[in-house]
Amino acid sequence: MTDALSLIAEPLLRWFSQQKRALPWREDTDPYHVWVSEIMLQQTRIEAVTGYYARFTEALPDVRALSEIDDDALLKLWEGLGYYSRARNLKKAAQLIMTQYGGSFPQTFRELVKLPGIGDYTAGAIASICFNERVPAVDGNVLRVIARVTGDRADVLLPGTKKAVTARLKAVMPAEAGAFNEALMELGETVCLPNGQPLCASCPLQPQCIAARDGLTGELPVRVKRTKRRRAEKTVFLISTPDGRIAIEKREEAGLLSGMYQLPNIDGYFSEEELKKLLTDRHLAVRELAFFKDVKHVFTHIDWLMKGCRVRVEQPGGHFLWVSRKELRESYPLPTAFQKFIS
Ligand code: SF4
Repeated sequence: MTDALSLIAEPLLRWFSQQKRALPWREDTDPYHVWVSEIMLQQTRIEAVTGYYARFTEALPDVRALSEIDDDALLKLWEGLGYYSRARNLKKAAQLIMTQYGGSFPQTFRELVKLPGIGDYTAGAIASICFNERVPAVDGNVLRVIARVTGDRADVLLPGTKKAVTARLKAVMPAEAGAFNEALMELGETVCLPNGQPLCASCPLQPQCIAARDGLTGELPVRVKRTKRRRAEKTVFLISTPDGRIAIEKREEAGLLSGMYQLPNIDGYFSEEELKKLLTDRHLAVRELAFFKDVKHVFTHIDWLMKGCRVRVEQPGGHFLWVSRKELRESYPLPTAFQKFIS
């Protein structure tokens, strides 16, 4: 039986050659550029990535430079993008490319997927776009397009569905593997939009699309949510000295936001009196203390519900690092969750 997907390559490639967006990382097929952009684009929108990509590749123009950067400077370049393990894995992979591959980028899916932070999708994207290997690159956008075109009701959050879609696409990949993968991603990002809002009238796959034909675009793709979100209540301190220095500290080397800096904080909510005592016990001479801001920050599996507490102290104390706002801005990577208290 012929797979309905065997009909998509030609109209898709024609559409892509006419409609593809000019993006900075599409100016060449240098695997370093494609890699950095693909890692940044995981979990982050294109508009947000463009500026980061320009800064990152200017500061670190190649694999060698990335392999040699120190961790604080690296995280500073990534500050605000979130999911910081992505940056750490980029550096680890760059170090492996330098030591195990003599500085030249591995060229096959099989080799690429062994590198830290590179999963099937990214390996497929690099191998196909840069080295034209006929291997799919299946992300959420691609899963959505394929579920709709084929009318597939399988849960796209299950790994088995991704595996099945990958196998189906592999069987119908044309010789222009990179363009085919990019076209599918682009279609998902710009035309076959999520939440029942696809622009079917401008879609090159409309003649083949079962969801468009049967009015199923609001139902497909099927996503069955399983994880229950956790909530964590925190009190965050913006502690400053009379000469304008702010207390920060380094987070643990493992876990969420590992290795970055943070404003001092504790789990739970407390009264102003309790907080004053707590800080005094930590060797700080508190002059003034008041709540000033509530902030919610949403991570993948957890929401932080934070109460901001502004504290003025007589002088630096405790085990904190005391830095000026300028130093904080320039040298210490501070996650967005805490930046919200500084602005
Ligand atoms: S016709 Fe509509 S639902 Fe089908 S692939 Fe195109 S945009 Fe998506």
